[in-house]
Amino acid sequence: MIRIKTEEEIAILKENALLVSRTLAEVGKRVVPGVTTMELDKVAEAFIRDHGAVPGFLGYGGFPYTLCLSVNDVVVHGFPSDYCLKEGDIVSVDCGTIYKGFYGDSAYTFPVGEVDAQTRKLLDVTKESLYRGISKAVEGNRIGDISHAVQSYAESFGFSVVREFVGHGIGSNMHEDPEVPNYGKSGRGKKLSEGMVICIEPMVNAGGKAIYLHENGWAVSTADKQKSAHFELMVVVRKERAEVLSTFDFIENC
Ligand code: MG
Ligand code: MG
Repeated sequence: MIRIKTEEEIAILKENALLVSRTLAEVGKRVVPGVTTMELDKVAEAFIRDHGAVPGFLGYGGFPYTLCLSVNDVVVHGFPSDYCLKEGDIVSVDCGTIYKGFYGDSAYTFPVGEVDAQTRKLLDVTKESLYRGISKAVEGNRIGDISHAVQSYAESFGFSVVREFVGHGIGSNMHEDPEVPNYGKSGRGKKLSEGMVICIEPMVNAGGKAIYLHENGWAVSTADKQKSAHFELMVVVRKERAEVLSTFDFIENC
């Protein structure tokens, strides 16, 4: 069942979205060669708690950390560890919050120092595929319009889109209906109405779409060991144009 949010609920979701956005920027400042992903997790947890909120992922379904930190071929749900980031790596930082009874959830994939041209392309294309999806989050469209916009853009560069994990509605639960796949056909799926709040989160692989689950039961990697990127924003469906609640401005324009 899809819950349409009131403007009051959307205002609280926006507070969560901005805190998540600021947390991603705090983490991003520290993404340099030599830092461990566990240090990044601690930065995020302290920042979220200092702002009167609670990490949204910690304990969610048993997940043991504040951030999902997914390096290189890890697609999503990577555990923080004593791994030292090195020049040329990429790290997807996925962050959630709980504040005033609602969730925030967004993700950004950072380059570590200089990355090669193909990796830079993967990051740029994945982020642009998210924006192409957001442009379709308008009343009267369907979920498939978002899905198709993401998939067609990413695949036009020879990249592939992960099927097993999808975007989602968000509210007083982190994962609500509807599911928002990153692949699909225009004109299919549930109809979008004003006040639906969704997370659009393309996971794009440099190589093939196949993935496998790590033994810890959480982390997922590309089968061919090529890199994978992940960007996520929280979006309100509106009549003329989607309203984007979270933002990468704190990362890119500060
Ligand atoms: Mg999400
Ligand atoms: Mg997320």
